[in-house]
Amino acid sequence: MSGARPPTHDDVLAASVRVAGMVQRTPVVLAEGATRGLGAEVHLKLESLQPTGSFKVRGAANRLLLMPEEERRRGVVTVSTGNHGRAVAYVAGRLGAPVTVCLSELVPSNKVAALRATGAELIIGGAGQDEAEERATELTRERGLTLVHPFDDPHVIAGQGTLALELLEQLPDMDTVLVPLSGGGLVSGVALALKALRPSVRVVAVSAAATPVMLRSVVAGRPVALPEVPTLADSLGGGIGLHNRYTLKLVTELVDEHVEVSERDIGRAMVELFVDERLVVEGASAVGMAALASGRVEPGRSTAVIVSGRNVDVMTLIQLVGGAGEES
Ligand SMILES: *Cc1c(COP(=O)(O)O)cnc(C)c1O
Repeated sequence: MSGARPPTHDDVLAASVRVAGMVQRTPVVLAEGATRGLGAEVHLKLESLQPTGSFKVRGAANRLLLMPEEERRRGVVTVSTGNHGRAVAYVAGRLGAPVTVCLSELVPSNKVAALRATGAELIIGGAGQDEAEERATELTRERGLTLVHPFDDPHVIAGQGTLALELLEQLPDMDTVLVPLSGGGLVSGVALALKALRPSVRVVAVSAAATPVMLRSVVAGRPVALPEVPTLADSLGGGIGLHNRYTLKLVTELVDEHVEVSERDIGRAMVELFVDERLVVEGASAVGMAALASGRVEPGRSTAVIVSGRNVDVMTLIQLVGGAGEES
């Protein structure tokens, strides 16, 4: 794990300069359907348009760029099968750093193939994510690889926060921001920047009701574990780590409001984004829209919704859109 010091908003400012050549400044568009429906401006920050299809490239870029050249040359290791793994592989590829991804035997073959295509070395073994993580930790010792954590890392958090600096420039009048919540790296970075530069903005974290591990941990005042269940918001799955060092504290201190959305809310929001806004998004990135459309959160006068990624299984989206047609 890098740096014991928790991240600050200065780290976010420094990160935004550092990662500029590696990430896109993503557009913000008015969600016309939602704006009409709610009678209040709803804007979408399209992180789904980042290289590799999610905001995770921001944190990965900041983390790897801050690594001493010699450490980078030895290589990095991660356990994510999803967006973080892809982002790390992309950034490492551009920097010429070898990357290893540890996977459990449960990971479906299409995901294995997508990761293999990035050029990463894959180590498949173990019955679940925990065993894959153990293997990754062993590799840090055996091969001197550096573990790049998906959220509980100060440099990763600072990198994710860079999107909030863009938002402040793009939407100077925004008063509310809706942020998907899983491990909390994204909302921690965003809130660090906003609370320093525009403390009046209300930061709302949106959890999938199927996997509200961070929210339950905030309520309990310590990291808790929940059984993993399938959800449309697959990128929000997984725990926060029983030895969480940074994000539980930051989320507890900086988030103004928490809401949870159901599977039904998420599915409907994915369809709404596709039909009304012509956007392809994955479940995790539809939770903000789901919270607004279901009335679980009160919109502000000008609300920014972080649309965090696009890596949805195509058949899942087709079935949702088809099913919604039958429903009405
Ligand atoms: C990782 C991810 C999230 C959640 O980010 P955390 O930092 O774990 O809270 C949300 N949406 C997408 C698409 C993601 O890949």
